[in-house]
Amino acid sequence: MGISDHAPSVTSRGYREVSEIIKKKREAIQKINEKQDSIKVFFGYEVNILADATLGLPDEILAELDYVVASIHTSFNQDREQITDRLLAAIENPYVNIIGHPSGRLLNERDPIDPAWDKIFLAARDNGKILEINAQPDRLDLPDDLVKEAIQWGVKLVISTDAHSVDQFSFMKYGIFNARRGWAENKNIINTLPYGDFVKEANIRLK
Ligand SMILES: [Zn+2]
Repeated sequence: MGISDHAPSVTSRGYREVSEIIKKKREAIQKINEKQDSIKVFFGYEVNILADATLGLPDEILAELDYVVASIHTSFNQDREQITDRLLAAIENPYVNIIGHPSGRLLNERDPIDPAWDKIFLAARDNGKILEINAQPDRLDLPDDLVKEAIQWGVKLVISTDAHSVDQFSFMKYGIFNARRGWAENKNIINTLPYGDFVKEANIRLK
């Protein structure tokens, strides 16, 4: 199980306070892992891909995490080239493992972004990066048609609940339905893998 809260902001909190938060969270997760061995908990953060294509946390902090999800949460209206470059920069960052809700759509609320998806899929594949199928019912993102394209490009996918509370773990089924609508099979979804293979395929940096 991966815990990836939204990352604390270095800009508003300062470097030292963020390092302190990370240290405390690391200790808490370590305790959970020491107490039981039926579920391994990974420590990650979801970091913003900012409008200028940089990430919300500096690399030296990202390096301390088991994994990083990078996502766009602002400036959805940039032109095609800008938004493509922004996603590519995140994909090419060595500490990023997963691109979260890649199209940014919110059903009945916000249209998906429209980057050059072929460039995104190619870069994800060549850099061994994973695209998320977000199971939140208002996201279902990647959308099913893009799931199919991603698979054709040989891109690895992960289905995640993006749960903000324990009861939202039940959203997993919607992610699975969405993946099936995009003709995904077990082999395309890295969180169907056994533990050891998952750690390898997802490039988890075990501490
Ligand atoms: Zn997000």
